[in-house]
Amino acid sequence: MKDGVRRFLVRDAAVRGEIVTLGRAWREVIARNPLPTPVQDRLGELSAAAALLGATLKFDGSLVLQIHGDGPVALFVVEYRSDGGYRATAKVREGAQVEPLMPLPALVDAHGRGRFVVTLAPSGDTPGQSAWQGIVPFEGDTVAAALERYMERSEQLPTRMWLAADGERAAGLLLQRLPGDGPQAAGAPDADGWQRLQQLADTVTRDELLGLTPDELMRRLFWQESLHAFDARGCRFECRCTREKVSDMLRMLGRDEVEAILAERGGIEVRCEYCNQAYRFDLVDSVALFHAATGTSSTARH
Ligand SMILES: [Zn+2]
Repeated sequence: MKDGVRRFLVRDAAVRGEIVTLGRAWREVIARNPLPTPVQDRLGELSAAAALLGATLKFDGSLVLQIHGDGPVALFVVEYRSDGGYRATAKVREGAQVEPLMPLPALVDAHGRGRFVVTLAPSGDTPGQSAWQGIVPFEGDTVAAALERYMERSEQLPTRMWLAADGERAAGLLLQRLPGDGPQAAGAPDADGWQRLQQLADTVTRDELLGLTPDELMRRLFWQESLHAFDARGCRFECRCTREKVSDMLRMLGRDEVEAILAERGGIEVRCEYCNQAYRFDLVDSVALFHAATGTSSTARH
């Protein structure tokens, strides 16, 4: 089963859908950053959700889903790019206890201060597009419910999601009602379609989401529907961290701070939170870092 998103359309019902399966890409994420099972599974679900929502980005750039937690988990973050590149990570607070069956609200909204953040960031070379961010209080018992509430609050098209993840795979199904549905709408002769398709999708099990291919899942759930499926769109793990970006971060920290750490520890090691790549800087690197920054021309980077 290849990693990616398969889109489909039930034209008469004015409903579109997507099925995502992440196998290898997901395993690369968890191999680099082992997490307690409930945290890992929720990150997998958020990964599937990001791929489902990101597959229809209408610009070159990225969609970032974040949950800022006030419980044992400080942060969930997933980045999905329009070219299919994907990375994800979660941060458990130091010393925090994660119980084996801890539900999502206990992980991120223990004191009612969890936040859900959606960012759309066009790449630097997309003209006329600027980044957009939506922040809402965390609501919902599951990742899918939180996403559905977010879509509802931000007055987007009615959207439902079914998500699942384990140590091998992250998967999901999305249904979205297209504008123009309704008894009078000429474009949607099947007025009950939206309700019926949701009911069919509600019968999906976790094992089916995680075990079936997108084609098998479509047949299993919607075999009676006239469904038009589109080609799959690939997705892969890819981190875009570079030594240059880490250098920029150290420059922002400032020379005094960097030299103080060097004096104390003899070297600086920065690990990428997404891919766990280590970037090491010694005294010589540090001199070069600030020498370049104070030179006459500092080049723009992104
Ligand atoms: Zn990285």
